[in-house]
Amino acid sequence: MIETGEIIKMDAYIDFVETDARCFMCHRPLSSGKAVVFNKKNFGNTCARKRGIDVSNIPDLTKGCIAETENTEIVSSGIGKKGVDLKYRDSVKQKCLSYLILRCDKLKDIKKIQYSGLNEIYSKYTNHSINQDDIRHISNIINLAERKFKESSIKNLYFCYAVKYQLENLKKRYHYEIFDSFLIYLRKHATLTIKQFNVLMQYSPVKIKYYDYQSDE
Ligand SMILES: [Zn+2]
Repeated sequence: MIETGEIIKMDAYIDFVETDARCFMCHRPLSSGKAVVFNKKNFGNTCARKRGIDVSNIPDLTKGCIAETENTEIVSSGIGKKGVDLKYRDSVKQKCLSYLILRCDKLKDIKKIQYSGLNEIYSKYTNHSINQDDIRHISNIINLAERKFKESSIKNLYFCYAVKYQLENLKKRYHYEIFDSFLIYLRKHATLTIKQFNVLMQYSPVKIKYYDYQSDE
């Protein structure tokens, strides 16, 4: 059961989109600022499901922003133990792939978090040949980062990506130099100061959770 559509699950992911973006299938506006991205096209949740994409089990790169309804169904579902195990395994895979895409692709311009040790796995991911051992390897890296390299923790990657996406968007819209200077700061320090962050929140259409890896013990 879990094997059906395995490739699709790995290909599709949830990402930020510009607020005027529309669903490729039904052309409805994607007003939440997020979409399911598959084959470089944007879909709303309903149309993604119609295409056989299990929306609750794909990587989600937008977790740095505050969701209206957090998805907490992973452990609480009342199905048998095996069902829970499969769901748990899926959620680990989802988290590991999010981490991989963020660190090796979306945030590759942030030097502080670059890690060449993941490049091989990332190229396997883009060639659809990633396996369970690779997922385990990523999981170990996530755990290590959480303990010793907080700038590369999954929390900080989600934060950096949400901030980066909004800054790039706002830069296009307003042409304010200040957004450029924040982007430069982000690339250098893998974070924003709380002051910079508060300025960003005055303009950003989506709310982001502030995270400072330097003060997280
Ligand atoms: Zn649609």
